[in-house]
Amino acid sequence: MIVVDKNGMNSFFPFKKVAPTPCIFEFVYFARPDSYIFGKNVYQVRKEQGRQLAREHKVDADIVIPIPDSGVPAALGYAEESGIPFELGLIRNHYVGRTFIEPQQAIRHFGVKIKLNPVREVLKGKRVVVIDDSIVRGTTSRKIVKMVRNAGASEVHVRISSPPTSYPCYYGIDTPNRKELISSSHSIDEIRRYITADSLGYLSEEGLMSSVGATDAGFCNACFTGGYPVKFPQLVQDDESQMGLFEKEKQ
Ligand code: SF4
Repeated sequence: MIVVDKNGMNSFFPFKKVAPTPCIFEFVYFARPDSYIFGKNVYQVRKEQGRQLAREHKVDADIVIPIPDSGVPAALGYAEESGIPFELGLIRNHYVGRTFIEPQQAIRHFGVKIKLNPVREVLKGKRVVVIDDSIVRGTTSRKIVKMVRNAGASEVHVRISSPPTSYPCYYGIDTPNRKELISSSHSIDEIRRYITADSLGYLSEEGLMSSVGATDAGFCNACFTGGYPVKFPQLVQDDESQMGLFEKEKQ
């Protein structure tokens, strides 16, 4: 704050200095891959997430395919590290929106069908690793696994280039509430069974942080950990299940 009065011009800092906590999810999904954010190129970071995912969750398979477009760099990284060939087994229709933020279930389901189309010649008889950036409700992943299997894949192994998304964002991103996030109430094996995959592996929190070349000190990663850098008293009123967060934060 600048104060100009008879004593001249003076500068004051009335608020406590707070360290910035940039959003780690920018590196997973939100940002364009050609962006540079917080000093890093998003494409390179996502490719490293894929490499790390391959180190953490190996599988015998014939091809690696991304959920286009956001899963492409991580799938390239996974293919490079594992030595399994990269293919485009799903083609995206670029004239429809992102299903993650479609508000109504019916629109999201319809969105998956018109957004992605399988390439049967690529998938038929193959053990397929499908790379996606996140699983939110699980409904989209389930439809994609079925789509890949119906196109002839003999096995479908899902790999996610971020940790389980168990907590909503209260900082302006339109994520579902906690009850709708499948990983808030289901184990990884329960999610695997729900999406009907042969196996499921998520990138670890440590793997995600190492992909951006930083410790978790500087980033908000509340989607995965529930450790919100700014507290939200209204959570208690909104949803009793959020009480746990406050208890956790107090410890
Ligand atoms: S909770 Fe934090 S990490 Fe998650 S989307 Fe919001 S700002 Fe990003």
